Amino acid sequence: MRRRTFLLLPPALLLAGPALSAPDVPAVAAPGRIARVRLGKADQPPKAYLDKRRVLVMRERGEWVALAGIALGTRADSMLLVEVEYGDGRRESRQVSIIPRGYPVQQLAVAPDQADLAPDQVPRYQKERGHLQQVLRTFTEPAPASVALRQPVPGRRSGSFGMRRVINGVARSPHSGLDIAADEGTPVAATAGGRVIDAGDYLFLGNTVVLDHGQGLLSLYAHLSAIDTKKGVALAPGAGIGKVGATGRATGPHLHFAVYLNATAVDPAIFLPRAGV
Ligand code: ZN
Repeated sequence: MRRRTFLLLPPALLLAGPALSAPDVPAVAAPGRIARVRLGKADQPPKAYLDKRRVLVMRERGEWVALAGIALGTRADSMLLVEVEYGDGRRESRQVSIIPRGYPVQQLAVAPDQADLAPDQVPRYQKERGHLQQVLRTFTEPAPASVALRQPVPGRRSGSFGMRRVINGVARSPHSGLDIAADEGTPVAATAGGRVIDAGDYLFLGNTVVLDHGQGLLSLYAHLSAIDTKKGVALAPGAGIGKVGATGRATGPHLHFAVYLNATAVDPAIFLPRAGV
């Protein structure tokens, strides 16, 4: 359940707090963004949960903080509850007030056979969707040293996260990543150090690589023309993972770059340097 009504702490205490300075990330508890929840000082790292799913917890200036991804579909003005489990067995709940954030709408007209899956593609699509959902639920213990990320390929940000797409008059799922325009074959670099947890060819995403950076922080790279790594490989920040392409459902060469926290797609731009390239 996303909305709960009982109050344990005044929400004002748990709003975003001051914006963090570099290399930290700005936290605004809005759909598609991240809530920053202060967990206090403790010897052992606390565990935090949102909707029963582990949330990234890291150390920041001598205390523990949880960074929780807020799903795009979360209603503004609702409340989320982050459950905290301390090393000494203490359990607490922290309430997060969701503030509104609008995303642009993009109207697209495409040929009908491009808008929908052919019936014989549906089983493949469903299988892939199940597999990817499982991959994106990956949670491994070591926390990343930082959640600041580097742009995986230089280029103009051509399609923004959260864009609500209406195709031939029918609302589709919002855009779950950031599109970066680049020429076919441009090398794509790991946004941070991490382990390859998936590499495959998917109907919509084309050739895709998913990296695990720790504590549920994942990055995904799609529409690649070539994959230059494989599942299980540990990569240094900036290591090559593949080349820009237009595989899967893509209108031209670009990188679809997505970032996940607690299995929730959040705006990758939050984590990137402001200049972009
Ligand atoms: Zn995209």
